Amino acid sequence: MKVTKTEFITSAVKPDQYPVSQFPEIALAGRSNVGKSSFINKMLQRKAIARISSKPGKTQLLNFFNINDILYFVDVPGYGYAKVSKTERAAWGKMIETYITTREQLKAVVLLVDLRHAPSKDDVMMYDFLKHYEIPTVIVATKADKIPKGKWQKHLKVVRETLQIETGDELVLFSSETGEGKEKAWSAIYKFVQ
Ligand code: GDP
Repeated sequence: MKVTKTEFITSAVKPDQYPVSQFPEIALAGRSNVGKSSFINKMLQRKAIARISSKPGKTQLLNFFNINDILYFVDVPGYGYAKVSKTERAAWGKMIETYITTREQLKAVVLLVDLRHAPSKDDVMMYDFLKHYEIPTVIVATKADKIPKGKWQKHLKVVRETLQIETGDELVLFSSETGEGKEKAWSAIYKFVQ
């Protein structure tokens, strides 16, 4: 997809702060440092539109971006950062659960995992949570450039088996360094927008 317009719309925690709009929404989730901001920036051909939300210790907000007046990306703050307090963790959980369970515009979630390692306990929990609520999920395995091509399939298999990816959920190999997987990621996402 050719992105010609990206616009930050708003940040929100609670439903009354969500933007009033009819655009289909794709939320993006993953543990801190997985490469979510880099993924968003690469997909949108922007240098640094996604930045604030993902830095540990910053306010935990959902950030809404309008893409081409066709869809919204909703950037979910990263999870799994060790230094986050119990209170903050609980607030994060409530924020994401409320969004996932109430937002009618939500069409799918992009769950980012690191291709180099088996998905973490938090990644598995997040995927199980999405499946519990029957949210279509696109799994994006990031940092593919850090793994030799010959080992990609082996690593993808570990991701697939650890998450126990359900039939119908696509797994896309991605690198924000090389742009590998960008078109595949767009077509996987675009299916939920039409
Ligand atoms: P976030 O916390 O999930 O938003 O992660 P960032 O996008 O900030 O990325 C965390 C670190 O991983 C940064 O140093 C990035 O430059 C690096 N990174 C992200 N994606 C890739 C990738 O595809 N390849 C490589 N080599 N590094 C990446």
